[in-house]
Amino acid sequence: MCGIVGYVGTQQASTRPLEVVLEGLRRLEYRGYDSAGVALVAPDGGGLSTAKKAGKLANLVGELQAHPLPVASAAIGHTRWATHGAPNDVNAHPHVAGPIALIHNGIVENFAVLKAELLADGVQFRSETDTEVAAHLLARAYAETGDLSAAMCGVARRLEGTFTLLAVHADLPDVVVGARHDSPLVVGLGEGENFLGSDVAAFIAHTRDALELGQDQVVTLSPDGVEVTDFFGVPAQGRRYRVDWDAAAAEKGGFASFMDKEIHDQPQAVGDTLLGRTDLAGNLVLDDLRIDESVLRSIDKIVVIACGTAAYAGHVAKYAIEHWCRIPVEVELAHEFRYRDPVVGPRTLVVAISQSGETMDTLMAVRHAREQGAKVLAICNTHGSTIPRESDAVLYTHAGPEIAVASTKAFLSQITAAYLLGLYLAQLRGNKFPDEIAETFDQLRAMPERIQTVLDRADAVRKAARELADVPSVLFLGRHVGFPVALEGALKLKELAYIHAEGFAAGELKHGPIALIDEGQPVFVVVPSPRGRDSLHSKVISNIQEIRARGARTLVIAEDGDDAVEAYADDVFYVPQCPTLLSPLLATVPLQVFACELATARGLDVDQPRNLAKSVTVE
Ligand code: GLU
Repeated sequence: MCGIVGYVGTQQASTRPLEVVLEGLRRLEYRGYDSAGVALVAPDGGGLSTAKKAGKLANLVGELQAHPLPVASAAIGHTRWATHGAPNDVNAHPHVAGPIALIHNGIVENFAVLKAELLADGVQFRSETDTEVAAHLLARAYAETGDLSAAMCGVARRLEGTFTLLAVHADLPDVVVGARHDSPLVVGLGEGENFLGSDVAAFIAHTRDALELGQDQVVTLSPDGVEVTDFFGVPAQGRRYRVDWDAAAAEKGGFASFMDKEIHDQPQAVGDTLLGRTDLAGNLVLDDLRIDESVLRSIDKIVVIACGTAAYAGHVAKYAIEHWCRIPVEVELAHEFRYRDPVVGPRTLVVAISQSGETMDTLMAVRHAREQGAKVLAICNTHGSTIPRESDAVLYTHAGPEIAVASTKAFLSQITAAYLLGLYLAQLRGNKFPDEIAETFDQLRAMPERIQTVLDRADAVRKAARELADVPSVLFLGRHVGFPVALEGALKLKELAYIHAEGFAAGELKHGPIALIDEGQPVFVVVPSPRGRDSLHSKVISNIQEIRARGARTLVIAEDGDDAVEAYADDVFYVPQCPTLLSPLLATVPLQVFACELATARGLDVDQPRNLAKSVTVE
C-alpha cells in the first residue's frame, strides 16, 4: 500500500531529482494510493519547496506545471493511502515542520500520546495525520543535535507502529535520510547519485544495483555514499544485490493492461523459477535454503500460511507435498493462524507464501511461528523484503515484477516453488528414488511450453467471457488439485469483475451448493485427467451431468483427448496433458484470461481494481 521514493544527486541544481521522483511514483502507482506529494531541496541556500495534491499523480503533475518548483539536488516523493485523516491536499505528504519535510508510509500507533506532548509544547498541527508528529519530532530532535541521522534515530526509537520515513532538511541539499520498521525500504546505488524506494520498481529505470536494508535501520543517503545504522546509531551493513529484471519488465510491453501482460509472462515466470535448481549430477539444489538438512529430515508437519491467492498456491502445495513426501501439510490463512493457538513447534516447518514479502498478516504469523520454535521458509517474489528476511530460509520465485493488483504470474510461480520444495524434501528424506524425482522435474521443465499452448488457445475463452459479460454470478467447481484452481478462478473474477463468484469442491455440490444452480447459471468445471486417479474423472463427469440437468451453462476445462466431457459441456477449453499434480499450472490460465476479459468487457480497470492494494501492509 502506498509508495515512497527518495533521490539525491550531484550538488548541481537540476530538474533530475523531481523527474526521478515523479517517475518512481508512477512506477509505484500499482501499490494503490489516494494522494501524492514531493519535497525538493535546492543547493546554495535555495532551501525547501513542496507540492502535494489529493487524487491521482496527474493532479500533482498539473499542480507542478501550474506552480513549478525551483530546480534541486535532492528530492523525496510519496503516494499516500490514508489511514489517519481524509485523503485531501492538507493531509497529503510531505509534512513540513520548520526546515524539515517528511513523508511516511505506515501507521504511528502512539501518535495521540506524542501529539499531546507536542501540543503541550506549543507545536501547531496543520493536518489530521498521525505522520505529522514524526515531522515535528524530527525538527525538534534536529534542533537539539544538529545531526539529521542522529535525529532520525531518536524519532524512530520513539515511534510505535509501522513506518518507512524519509526526510530532507532545507540546509542539507545533499542528504536524504530514511528509517524503516516493519515497512519496506530499499536503496538503489547509482554513480554520483543514489535512490530510495518502497521497492526496486521506484528506481529500476536508473540502476539495477540495490542494497537491502534490515529491520529497524536508519539510512543516510548522499550523492556518493550510503550509511546504514540501527536505531541507536550503531553502524550496520546492508546487503548489496543486483535486481534480476530491468525497466522493460515493469512496462506493459504492448499489452492492453499489466494483467494481460503478466498472464502472458507466465511461461517465462515458471521457467525462471525452475532455473538453476539442479546441480551437475542432476540433484535438486535449493541454495537459498538455510535450514539444516537434519532439521528438515526431522520435521513431522508442514503448515503453509498465506492470504488470498497465495493461500490457494498453498492448497496446491498440500496435494503435491503430501503425495511426494508423506508429511502432513496444513494450509491456513495467516490472519487466522496468528490469532488462535496453533500447535507448532521445533518439528514443524512453516511455509510462508507472499508475493511482496510485506503482507502484514503473513509477517505477523511468521513471527508467531518462530516464537513457538518452528522453522520458517518463505516463498517470495521480492528480494530482500521483510518476510524472507525474518524467515529461516527463502525460496525466491523469479516471476519478475507483478504490477497488476490481482495476482497471476506470482501464483503460478509460487506453485512452482512449492513443487520444488516438495521434490527437495522427497529427495532429502528418501521418499522418492532419484530417477523418480528427475522424471517429475523433467515434467516441470516442460510446463512453460504447455502454458504457452494454453495461452495460444485462449481466444475461445475470451469469446465466452464477452458473451457472459453481464451475468450476475459464476460458479467454479474442481476436485483434488482442481479444487484450489476453482477457488482461484472465483477469486480472480471477484477481484476484477466485481461479480459474485464462488469456488466449490465438486464433491461438495450435493451437500448444498447445487441449490444455486438455475437455468443459464454459468459454471466452470475443472476436470481431472482421465489418466490420473481413475475414479476422480468419472465422478467429476457425473457432477457436470448433475448441474447440466438443472440448466447450468457448463464451461469445462479438460485435458487434450478427453472426449468424454464433450457430451455434457456447452464449452470445452482443452489444455495439454501433464501429470495430475502439475495440472494447476495449466488449468488456472483459462480462468485468469476469463476474468481479465470479462472485466475488460465491463469497462473496468483490470490493473487497479477498486478497494484493493497490491501488497496489504496493514493487519
Ligand atoms: N498513516 C499515514 C497517513 O494516513 C501514512 C499513510 C500511508 O502509508 O501512506 O497519512
